[in-house]
Amino acid sequence: MEKLALNVKCPHCKKSLMDPYHRIHDKPSILLDVKTDHGEGKLRLCAYYGCYTHESTIELKEGEIVHVYCPHCHQELVSQSKFCSECKAPMIPLALQRGGRVYVCSRVGCKKHFLSFENISEALTRLYNEYGDF
Ligand SMILES: [Zn+2]
Ligand SMILES: [Zn+2]
Ligand SMILES: [Zn+2]
Repeated sequence: MEKLALNVKCPHCKKSLMDPYHRIHDKPSILLDVKTDHGEGKLRLCAYYGCYTHESTIELKEGEIVHVYCPHCHQELVSQSKFCSECKAPMIPLALQRGGRVYVCSRVGCKKHFLSFENISEALTRLYNEYGDF
């Protein structure tokens, strides 16, 4: 099955969060600043929707909630209204280049994430036009 590779930007400053120089699973990774109770560093996520592979420059402890920030405008990426349906942690919003958002749970070890569109059929058409192969 073809997988959908996401192309995301900061929901605040709209700058791309993709890092073409550091690939995960042969795709540009999603690069974020990360802070926890015990440190701060860089967090990279695999761009494939549904893939949970990530790399961090600091140790992330299973079960803790992380705070992530845009590396460009340094605003925190955290939803005020959406919480994980499985563990109640705040969701991290990432804006898709062509509209819509993907939400990722902020708790280490929780694999919950989902796509959200205001208009699902329009969004799928856009995604299809952008990627063509999922
Ligand atoms: Zn930003
Ligand atoms: Zn992956
Ligand atoms: Zn969760």
